[in-house]
Amino acid sequence: MSAVETLFNIIDSSVLALKKDCDISYLEGLVEVSGNFFEGKILQDGLYSSTYDRMKKEIVKFEGLKKDSETTRRAFQLALLKGMKEGVQANHEMTPDAVAMFMSYLVQKFTGKKEIISVLDPAVGTGNLLTAVLNGRLGNDVKGFGVDADELLVQLAYANANLQENHVELFHSDGLGALYIDPVDAIVSDLPIGYYPNEERAQEFELNTEEGMPYIHYLYIEQCVKHIKEDGYIFLLVPNHLFETEQGKKLHSFIHRTCYIQGLLQLPTTLFKSEQFAKSIFVLQKKGPTAKAPTQVLLAELPQFTNAEAMAKMMMMLEKWFTKEI
Ligand code: SAM
Repeated sequence: MSAVETLFNIIDSSVLALKKDCDISYLEGLVEVSGNFFEGKILQDGLYSSTYDRMKKEIVKFEGLKKDSETTRRAFQLALLKGMKEGVQANHEMTPDAVAMFMSYLVQKFTGKKEIISVLDPAVGTGNLLTAVLNGRLGNDVKGFGVDADELLVQLAYANANLQENHVELFHSDGLGALYIDPVDAIVSDLPIGYYPNEERAQEFELNTEEGMPYIHYLYIEQCVKHIKEDGYIFLLVPNHLFETEQGKKLHSFIHRTCYIQGLLQLPTTLFKSEQFAKSIFVLQKKGPTAKAPTQVLLAELPQFTNAEAMAKMMMMLEKWFTKEI
């Protein structure tokens, strides 16, 4: 059995025991169990003795298992997937592993020569995407920041980052509100998609609609540009056909003024429920003293990640582009 499977089994059996005893959801149980593992002791009062004994044994197994941050992230992710099967809003779904890993690769390639000390995900969810990116730059002293409006997801992100021993500061708030975070070196995010109901706050944004409720992902792009340092890179998962709406037209001129588009990589549609929900990875660099437009923007339709041959060809094409442009 791999270390990921062993760790998942430790987490899973602890969550199942606690869930039953405390009458809580799987995801709430995951938060509780992670706290116990992180502290090395049982934090819940009044457990049945059988649950208490089981939890105690699992803590010992957890502490005895040899694991690195990536092993922990993957095992935690399996538990998150299991918990999310109990029901989660479409907009709250975790970024799939293949996409998180690919974005981590892109962050490393684009920022390879730059010193990166801070990375923000303003819609951090479970922290899966943010921690995949942080683990990809292991060895550097990188600090992560995450914001999310959903309290349970923030708790899960906190548990996730703690168990991986990542250095992450989390905020439970509106990602489009005032963020008390200094401008960062890089931003990664799988943006929420849909309407933004806070029309008063939306008025603070250039990319707001003239009439009706604005789409949240456009406001988020503007927020990211506000919170990145000059020359910094922004990596976003956005819906395909981003520029085809009224806000999309405004976005075009906003980006032209503030950033250089570095890349637009369309993800395979098979990753999504239907073509209508398919997404692309949008890479921007904020203008600054060293930022420059690429001679050719990186445009590609990514093959299915499971198609090894097509993926190898794609990676060769990407490596060539990076050698020439970065
Ligand atoms: N990358 C995340 C992960 O790996 O778990 C998934 C992000 S999910 C696609 C989008 C997130 O945006 C959800 O976690 C949702 O709670 C959050 N969100 C939606 N509206 C928000 C808002 N106004 N402010 C902050 N977060 C928001």
